Amino acid sequence: MTIYQKLYEGKAKILYATDDPDVLLTYFKDDATAFNAQKKGSIQGKGAVNCAISSHLFQQLAARGVPTHFIDQPSANEMRVRAVTIVPLEVVVRNIAAGSLCRETGLELGTVLKRPLVEFYYKNDGLGDPLLTRDRLLLLELATPEQVEQLQTMALQINQMLSEFFEGCGITLVDFKLEFGLDRNQQLILADEISPDTCRLWNQAEKDPQRRVMDKDRFRLDLGNVESAYQQVMERVLKAKL
Ligand code: UDP
Repeated sequence: MTIYQKLYEGKAKILYATDDPDVLLTYFKDDATAFNAQKKGSIQGKGAVNCAISSHLFQQLAARGVPTHFIDQPSANEMRVRAVTIVPLEVVVRNIAAGSLCRETGLELGTVLKRPLVEFYYKNDGLGDPLLTRDRLLLLELATPEQVEQLQTMALQINQMLSEFFEGCGITLVDFKLEFGLDRNQQLILADEISPDTCRLWNQAEKDPQRRVMDKDRFRLDLGNVESAYQQVMERVLKAKL
């Protein structure tokens, strides 16, 4: 397929137009950033690993009835996706307290939440992706009340499926971030990626709080062995089915 112009270059991916206006091509890069791009680096092989993991997870979710933007994976670093208008929200689901939830509430790292927590962040780098209240979200008209309900429901369903999937890989799904888009019929569909860049994943075979980390926290917190952790997630994920 002929590749036309570069539409957008983000921190971890590049988006290209294709000869079909309904289809876009995502190129997964090795570049890594953290703390709103204050920390920059590269994780060797990350692009291909995240592309493979995301493709597999999107296919597993689609088989269970979740609408996703995934079409196919034409090469190691490339995913063809349906063109959507991205909803400017980061939908975070948490099962176990970590990261900003601990920093901002004082909850101890590793606290198992009584029920999953769904949180909405404003996808706006200039503002530092702030946590939104539901009223602020509606005030800014980032989604309609019906869409908020639907996002919450879809996020919890996806959490149930992904938690079960990762459990089968010997991995605990601590928390993760989703992005959604609207298709031409204004239907919400799951977009972006699901990978160790966007999930916290703990190896159940390790109890040590640093050794168990299999996700981007290895990069954020300079824990070392970043590449091999991502590789390990990919090996387990590609073997598993929902
Ligand atoms: N996350 C993400 N992109 C972001 C912010 C968060 O993918 O811009 C993911 C992150 O990897 C984690 C979850 O969302 O799995 C919750 O992140 P948190 O709010 O704890 O942020 P952090 O502590 O990383 O600043």
